[in-house]
Amino acid sequence: MPEAAAPTCTAAPDAPAAVWRVALPVPLPQLFDYRPPEAPGQGDPVGCRVRVPFGRGGEKVGVVVATAAPDEASGALKTVSDRLDGPPLLQGELLASLHWLARYTHAPLGEVLATALPGPLRHGEPLPDTRVWGWQLTEAGRTACAGMREGRPRRLAHHLAGGRIDEDRLDQTVEGWRSAARSLSGRGLAERVELPPVRRAAEPGAGPTPNAGQQAAIDAVLSSHGTFQPLLLDGVTGSGKTEVYLHAIADCLARGRQALVLVPEIGLTPQTLGRFRDRLGIPVHALHSGLPDGERARVWAAAARGEARVVVGTRSAVFLPLPEPGLIVVDEEHDGSFKQLDGIRYHARDFALVRGKALDVPVVLGSATPSLESLRNARSGRYVHLRLRERAGAARPPRVRVVDVRKRPLDAGLSPELLTAIERALADGGQVLVFKNRRGYAPVLLCHDCGWNAQCPRCSTALHGTPMTVHAGGRRLQCHHCGHRQRVPDACPDCGGLGLQPQGAGTERIEDALRARFPDTRIFRVDRGSTQRRDAMETLLAEFGREPGILVGTQMLAKGHDLAGLTLVAVVGIDEGLFSADFRAPEKLAQLLIQVAGRAGRADRPGEVLLQTHHPGHPLLETLLGGGYPAFAEAELPQREAAGFPPATHMAMLRAEAKQVEAAESFLHLAREALAHAAPRAALELNGPLPAPMPRRAGYQRMQLLLTAADRRDLHAALDAALPTLYASPEARRVRWSLDVDPVDL
Ligand code: ADP
Ligand code: ZN
Ligand code: ZN
Repeated sequence: MPEAAAPTCTAAPDAPAAVWRVALPVPLPQLFDYRPPEAPGQGDPVGCRVRVPFGRGGEKVGVVVATAAPDEASGALKTVSDRLDGPPLLQGELLASLHWLARYTHAPLGEVLATALPGPLRHGEPLPDTRVWGWQLTEAGRTACAGMREGRPRRLAHHLAGGRIDEDRLDQTVEGWRSAARSLSGRGLAERVELPPVRRAAEPGAGPTPNAGQQAAIDAVLSSHGTFQPLLLDGVTGSGKTEVYLHAIADCLARGRQALVLVPEIGLTPQTLGRFRDRLGIPVHALHSGLPDGERARVWAAAARGEARVVVGTRSAVFLPLPEPGLIVVDEEHDGSFKQLDGIRYHARDFALVRGKALDVPVVLGSATPSLESLRNARSGRYVHLRLRERAGAARPPRVRVVDVRKRPLDAGLSPELLTAIERALADGGQVLVFKNRRGYAPVLLCHDCGWNAQCPRCSTALHGTPMTVHAGGRRLQCHHCGHRQRVPDACPDCGGLGLQPQGAGTERIEDALRARFPDTRIFRVDRGSTQRRDAMETLLAEFGREPGILVGTQMLAKGHDLAGLTLVAVVGIDEGLFSADFRAPEKLAQLLIQVAGRAGRADRPGEVLLQTHHPGHPLLETLLGGGYPAFAEAELPQREAAGFPPATHMAMLRAEAKQVEAAESFLHLAREALAHAAPRAALELNGPLPAPMPRRAGYQRMQLLLTAADRRDLHAALDAALPTLYASPEARRVRWSLDVDPVDL
């Protein structure tokens, strides 16, 4: 980029040319110094976006994060090309919290800031217009209206004849209105007008009167307003947690404050949004990955200007500016979608707590199946623990029955008992959900005769095993946790049978089998493949309606949607989850089973849940059936502590991949040395380098190094000390590497 050479517009000679330190979205740990632009603009540049020359002839957009006094070296600096913001885009609490996030994830600040901004803002576009626009007929339009020809323009004109309508409403009510509006305005019949911002759209709808448990929870949230207080709302599915949120949000609005509600990716349905809008009586802003970039930027701007009073959003909504904060809610706080698995690996729930603390607002974490992390914090008294033990209203908990399928003939993994139960439910006019948990990568080697499965002798614990994964074309078993290997046995070591099978029938095979068995029944499949588009699931579920039929689906169906006609939930393929390599697998499985079971019998009809397994006596299932999720958590937490796993300890995962496995290995060996050198031996446990659970992907060999520390500070200190060595090493240039603090997928 050539230096600007206009001699007429140099800065005033007496103004000291400070240095602007810019965070750029590049995978390098440092900030970049520039001289201020020719037109430095008004006010402190910290928090403003700038366009700067970078690399050979390139340009990047970054954020000024500090200014410094010039020194001898400053003369050689390049100059900022443009200051893109007058008043800073990032400021105050949000900027400070993002600084914290960069330190916590040990990620370059510029990459963290870029992650926090919607695409258009990240690329330097101005903060979008958030004014509300509507359409109205002109004088001529009103006259012409009656005599217009049939068609979309006429239909739109008739809508507008009753008065002006805002564009959001038109989106919802008049199909194809945009082209119709262009046509009308081209003929001078209609015009676009700015509308005053809407603070109150309608009278807030009345909800059910809270029961005693809900009222206690509401009171607890209200009484912590204006202070940072995490509250764990631990309530069974259908216990009325959302009602508690709604009351707390209404109170927050009444105090003139903004509320932010985080929901899992698949929880943000039109149903949910409609319920919030109706009950709160104000526009509710939605933010999710299905929105066009421009719309995401508009929601960001509306939040920054304080126009958005309630935002319901998925993971990235945790980065919204909240100039008038009042409340943060994280619904289904245990949900895996809150953790970003690539780029900046942040956890939205955890970052929501950091922001809540910085903003002095209560943070409500709601779940029927809280994460063990949150339960541990509730037990230790760091979080207020609020419990809702019963379903609200008339709905009763479902009956749960275990179906033992050892030695039973299976059709695409479905047992005769299960098929009979489905038949009966359909005959009674009910709806059936056949749920197949496809989570987890590692296939399991299972004996169909006795239920034996290959487990690592070095990693299994009493409550859950660690499977050996089948490798080398079916000849070798390997443990991804400790590296232990052995040959695949010819016969079952327990019963001598020859029925050893890798597990796995997907939803498509199940759908086919059900079609063959129930040819006259409506069968719908819901999974990532069948519902690519965001609204496809809505359409499909609307079609499913209340008539008898079968839904086959993955965890996409586990929550969010109210399936009021559901009377039977059949869960198949859980055995993979019982023996997964991930120490969190039992927790994920317990959560999934409880959440899926919670789909049955939501309203008027009682529900039944069938769990099909080769392990009817598995301690996890027995514990869950006997005492529900609380009993599971009660048993699992001490096990985690005994085994030295989170939440009792703290982990970070260093991953490396390369075309040659040696490159990944030698980088991680270097890392291991640097980390061991940085931390006293007892403070940090290092496991690896080991092959990743998916050791090869897209032609890359993947290795990992797991760091575990009893004290979080030791973990961060070791990383702080070792990372500069890694960044500077030639080994780093031969691999793609990443660091994941608090990894969720080991
Ligand atoms: P959750 O969020 O815990 O799953 P919801 O708040 O969605 O529960 O409530 C489940 C159902 O029970 C909803 O249909 C809701 O309207 C109803 N409900 C909630 N609280 C009450 C109450 N106090 N009395 C009657 N019905 C209620
Ligand atoms: Zn066997
Ligand atoms: Zn092992």
